[in-house]
Parts: sequence; C-alpha cells; structure tokens
Amino acid sequence: MNLVVLACLLLVLTQHGFEALLLALQNRHQERLRAAMPEHLQGLLSAQEYAKALDYNADKNRLALAGEAVDLLGVLILLALAWSGPLASWLALAGRHGLAGLALFVLLPLLALSALDWPLDYMRQFRVEARHGFNKSTPGLWLVDQLKSLALAAGLGFLVIWALLALARALGPAWWVWGFAFLAGFQVVLMLAWPRWIMPLFNRFSPLPEGVLKQQLLALAGRTGFEISGLFVMDSSKRSSHANAFFTGFGRFRRIVLFDTLTAQLTAEQTTAVLAHEIGHSKHGHTLKGLGLSLAGALAFAFAAHWLSLRSAGPGGPAEGLAWALLALAVLGPSLLFWVSPLSAALSRRWEYQADAYACQACGSGQALRQALACLNQNSLGNPVPHPLLVAFHYSHPPLPERLRRLPG
Ligand SMILES: [Zn+2]
Repeated sequence: MNLVVLACLLLVLTQHGFEALLLALQNRHQERLRAAMPEHLQGLLSAQEYAKALDYNADKNRLALAGEAVDLLGVLILLALAWSGPLASWLALAGRHGLAGLALFVLLPLLALSALDWPLDYMRQFRVEARHGFNKSTPGLWLVDQLKSLALAAGLGFLVIWALLALARALGPAWWVWGFAFLAGFQVVLMLAWPRWIMPLFNRFSPLPEGVLKQQLLALAGRTGFEISGLFVMDSSKRSSHANAFFTGFGRFRRIVLFDTLTAQLTAEQTTAVLAHEIGHSKHGHTLKGLGLSLAGALAFAFAAHWLSLRSAGPGGPAEGLAWALLALAVLGPSLLFWVSPLSAALSRRWEYQADAYACQACGSGQALRQALACLNQNSLGNPVPHPLLVAFHYSHPPLPERLRRLPG
C-alpha cells in the first residue's frame, strides 16, 4: 500500500512540477521579449496592445501557478487520508449504506476538490479579468453559477457513479463491457441534451434577428450544403466580453450559436468567415472523430476501472473495489493523461488549420477570416509570444501569427 501511495505521489508531483516549470518558462520568455516586440508581430499589434497583452497573460500565469498549488494541496490531502487509513474506514462505513453510500464515497471528495478552486475562480473573474476590462459578471451571478454547476456535477456525477457500481454489483468482473456501453450512451445523450436543456440554465438563447448577417450566414449554409435547425445568439456579455461561436448537434439537429460579444465585435463578412470555419470542422468530420475519440476514452476508462478494481478489492465485494478504483482514477487520471496532451493538442491544432483552409475556400478568400481572427485575438488579448513548450502542451488552437501565415490570400 505504501509503495502504491508513493508511486501516486510521484505521479502527481511530477505533473504539477512540470506545469509550474512551463509557467515559469513562459514568464521568463515573455519578460525577455517585453522590451522589443518580435518582428513577425509588427503590423499585427501596436506597441501598446503588445504591452497590454503581456500584462494580461502575466497576471493569468500567476493565478494559474496558484491554481497548480491549490490542486496539488487537494490531492496531497486525499493521498494522506488514503495512506493513514481514514479513507478505508469511510469506505467501510459507506458500504453499509448500499450503492448510494458508495457513490457518495466517490463523489464527495471530488466535489470538495472542485470547491477548493472557488476562491481562485473568484479572483480570476473579479481581479484579473476585471483589471483587464473583461469582467461583466457580478458576485451574485458568479455565486449562482457556481451553485448551479455544483448541483449539476453532483446530480450527473451521482447518476454515472451509481450506475457503474450497480453494474459491478449485478454482473461481477464482466461489468466493464456494459459499463462502457452505458458511458457511451450517456455521452451521446449528454451531447444532445447539453445545448437544449443544460446550457439554457446559464444563458439565454434568442434567434438571430432578421437582417444582413442572418442572410449571409444562411446563404453560406446553403452554398456549402450545411443543414441547420436554428441560428441563435447567446447572451454571453452578461459574464465576459470574450467572444466565440460554435455549433452543436448533428445533421438537422445542428444549431449555430454566436456569442453576442462576437456579433458586436465583427462585421457580417467576418462573422460569416467564422461560421465557415465552424462548417469546415463539420465537413472534415472533426465532430464525429472527436466523438469517436471520446468513446475510445470511455472504453479505456471502463477497462482501467475494471483492472484497478480487481487489484483493490478488499473484504468488500466488487462494488467496493470499484468505488476505490473510480476515486483513484478521477483524482490521479488527469496527472497521467497530462503526458499525452501534446498529442491531443497537436491533433486539435491540425484540425484548426484544416477548418481555416476550408473557410478560405468557402468564402472565396482568406481576407475576412484573417481580419476576424486578428480582431478577436486582439480584443481578447491573446498571448502574443507563447513559449513553444506551452503551445505543445496547452494550445488547442495555433498561436495567431502561425495561423495567419498559413492562410491563403
Ligand atoms: Zn476551430
């Protein structure tokens, strides 16, 4: 047991240590480049915008470093509880209250870990984002958001954990195949339910009003044979001035959602180019491939939980063993998965380039997309000089200068 705890400790310390190193590298990198803006950014940013973007990212990095420390502290407390015994006695106690008790044994520590992030999240919104002019939220709205998210995580988390434990209790070691089928079905249902029932808990969606923008977007959808069931504007400006757009669902259930901050910052042509980029993701099958990858993830998760539960089965039955395994995977899995994030981030950046290329082709030139990307990046103070190692591990989208360089026209 002590050896296992030691291995877990090493895993967690290596990951958080490496994350801290990445942030330190980034800080040194950007402070070194602060005095003189690199040549490839000339014409893209003014000296003043460059300095503002560096200040914002330095503040964000400082908070991210504090976040690493808080996360590490939470995991260390859990490891100490596992090592010194209380966690095992809580499991025995939970087991006496049936599957619901066992599900709470897994869920409560995870909710406690996520609540540890609240103070930093508050600071992110009301110190950093506010200082740089992005915050539009209020402490009251922030608190309601946190409580809703917590209730949602508790409800969905309890349902999933309880179902997996019930399968293990009913089926024994063969549970994991059915566990995978359940997780796969749950993911698909969640994907369809998210925009319809869950996102409206946080935001209001209104149909895009008639006008030039709607005409241009519908014309693009028609031209590219992209079926949509609705065009919506989301009131994201009540929290933040950062802008975005996305689509959800498949086939004729597809909905396009534009942040109201996006339509406020971009012209109709530029917004159309952003939609063309989103259509590019769909045409290249990125949505389906992404779903395929997350189903593969669910399969790996179910098997890992099965494998671990066989090794941690104590005096309790298969459900008790699985409760241990689920908690361990949820807490330690991210530290393990972190090391494959360069692969997933590289794949995601590759998809962004493909969607950009599609958008240029669909719009007849890259000009509108170029303007849109530059404007959005500038308004959101994107990091102008990310360190290559930070990009490799954390950037799902290519840094702006490289992205613009690859655009034709
Ligand atoms: Zn994209």
